[in-house]
Amino acid sequence: MAINDVHADYPMPYVWPRLPLDVNRVDAVVVHHTATFFLRPSATIAEELAHIDMIHIYHQSKGWGGFAYHFIVFPSGRSYLVVPLTQWGAHVKGENDHLHAVVVAGDFTDVVPVRAQQEGVAEGIRLVYATLGRRVPIRPHRSWTPTSCPGNTWQSWVPGLTALVEEDEMEMDWETFVDFMHRFIREVPAQARYPEDSPNGKQGEPYGPRHPLGEYIGSLRDVGRALRSHAGDAAKHSAGGDVSEERARQIADEEDRKLRLPLVKD
Ligand SMILES: [Zn+2]
Repeated sequence: MAINDVHADYPMPYVWPRLPLDVNRVDAVVVHHTATFFLRPSATIAEELAHIDMIHIYHQSKGWGGFAYHFIVFPSGRSYLVVPLTQWGAHVKGENDHLHAVVVAGDFTDVVPVRAQQEGVAEGIRLVYATLGRRVPIRPHRSWTPTSCPGNTWQSWVPGLTALVEEDEMEMDWETFVDFMHRFIREVPAQARYPEDSPNGKQGEPYGPRHPLGEYIGSLRDVGRALRSHAGDAAKHSAGGDVSEERARQIADEEDRKLRLPLVKD
């Protein structure tokens, strides 16, 4: 899900307490919770923007210049950039000159954010890393000041955000994925035989289709079929449409032979 950049709708002058932020000085991303009421995962963008408006007005009334955090992430998984990463937030007293802030909408005293929301947080942090050109630690608000923020459940999800950010960074390109699947499809069935201590099958026999692993191999074969049809399309595409239907089918068949499973019959 892309980040919704709404900062132009919440302009804040670059004056105290919202001075320009020197990104070279940023040494952490701070995680907060709003501790406000909880919007449903099915909330609309309009409802989420109304929630941002409410917090913005409240923070103006506190003399903070407006919305205090760089990002806010809702249970829908949508992430909004409200304050430019080149401007101070107003979220940790006395520390705003070296921190970026993500606020997770909701109260996490007793429950953890839903997975989509955690992924939205990771997405915001990836944008921070891309802006900084480096990674910085992800820390809960409470590591600076005596506060319960971002909620008593924080240990169950804040430390995990680091891995979540990296997981998102590891997107495979198509060729790597195809190569990986080819190897997987060839190698897994070759080893998929009943082990020595099997209570049901004879040792060394391949798993049948009704065994869970046999079913699994069946679904791998479906993946194989999808790869096969993609190979034909890819051949047509890379030849700029100059490849005949027949040649595309040939390429698909070659791909199919590479994928043929040694132990599982159709
Ligand atoms: Zn906080």
